[in-house]
Amino acid sequence: MSATLETDEHKALRAAVAQLGRRYGREYLTKAVAEGRHPGELWAEAAKLGYLGVNLPEEYGGGGGGITELAIVLEELGAAGCPLLMMVVSPAICGTVIARFGTEEQKRTWLPGIADGSRTMAFGITEPDAGSNSHRITTTARRDGTDWVLSGRKVFISGVDIADATLVVARTETVPDKEGHTGRLKPCLFVVPRDAEGFQRHGIDMELQAPEKQFELVLDDVRLPADALVGDEDAGLLQLFAGLNPERIMTAAFAIGMGRYALARAVGYAKDRTVWQAPIGAHQAIAHPLAQSHIELELACLMTQKAAHLYDTGDDIGAGEAANMAKYAAAEACVKAVDQAVHTLGGNGLTREYGLASLITASRVARIAPVSREMILNFVSHQTLGLPKSY
Ligand SMILES: Cc1cc2nc3c(=O)[nH]c(=O)nc-3n(C[C@H](O)[C@H](O)[C@H](O)COP(=O)(O)OP(=O)(O)OC[C@H]3O[C@@H](n4cnc5c(N)ncnc54)[C@H](O)[C@@H]3O)c2cc1C
Repeated sequence: MSATLETDEHKALRAAVAQLGRRYGREYLTKAVAEGRHPGELWAEAAKLGYLGVNLPEEYGGGGGGITELAIVLEELGAAGCPLLMMVVSPAICGTVIARFGTEEQKRTWLPGIADGSRTMAFGITEPDAGSNSHRITTTARRDGTDWVLSGRKVFISGVDIADATLVVARTETVPDKEGHTGRLKPCLFVVPRDAEGFQRHGIDMELQAPEKQFELVLDDVRLPADALVGDEDAGLLQLFAGLNPERIMTAAFAIGMGRYALARAVGYAKDRTVWQAPIGAHQAIAHPLAQSHIELELACLMTQKAAHLYDTGDDIGAGEAANMAKYAAAEACVKAVDQAVHTLGGNGLTREYGLASLITASRVARIAPVSREMILNFVSHQTLGLPKSY
């Protein structure tokens, strides 16, 4: 990206991460996927260079930057063909929530490890019977003496196998009204260690060629000490959104990186492949959609920078709207760029050798998660335009 709004430090960070990304590249990631393992070497090196914890406070081993810098890191790794999806979760959501709302003890326990890559945390909010309607989640946290006891189910939770713990969103037990409703969501966040008793995970067979795996989780009376609760029991949605806005901004960066990677591959191919007198890139039917994708990715990048800037300057409300818009724009630009890239390669677009076809599935992730395209359109319809709700 030309990223004209960026400081010299940001440009230098982009260049340095891009160099790291090029050293690993797509082949490295494809090999990790084939071997069914986490891209641990890249994760460790990115951490060592200070990239994974760039958004975390310096006093806890981080770089003292913000989501702006972390998004640059993820975008550039993605543009080099080796994105690290767990960056969306571990430093961006979990790191942010713990840095903003955790106790001193929680910060000391988790943040240095998240920053240096030695510890990873997954994040679980999605439930099978709630889906996009997170007000409907039923995972419940019950007090028992000073302990908490968690019961419920989660689905599509990424990276639980490699994470030391999962930050689980539950609701505190509330007495249902006469109709059986438990009222609006009052979410609470709990650190659930990977091997906690009663915490089970089952891999979901995804049609995705990615090193990060998704899991269904069962919490069967998982007993946790009082200090497993992160933040205030009554802080509710504000605290949760402190983590979810970075998640959206980082998903936008993930999508822009993937879109840029696909576009670059297509442009390279279109410059060389010649089946008439001139390379296929001279035909406007090939050139214009690629140019359009470049423009759309650039626009999405601008929106992502705006969202990250608002978030980093403490405007949680403004960041909420901008992060949703950035995620929407980036996902749509990514899906289109990948589609056009595959098309540009003709039959080669569908071969394993060229490796672009698998991005068709991968690019859809950003349209669905962490909040779907339709839920963002709902948000803008209701919150921005003041239109009435259908649900
Ligand atoms: C690869 C991957 C990784 C993921 N990782 C995580 C993770 O680490 N942690 C986590 O908590 N979750 C994770 N998720 C879950 C993800 O956030 C959910 O899939 C997403 O929120 C959508 O929920 P759902 O799948 O239940 O779809 P549903 O809510 O069932 O929606 C299905 C369709 O209906 C549409 N829809 C629903 N309601 C409305 C409405 N009111 N108006 C219009 N359309 C509507 C949706 O837009 C969508 O197209 C992951 C998902 C994927 C695919």
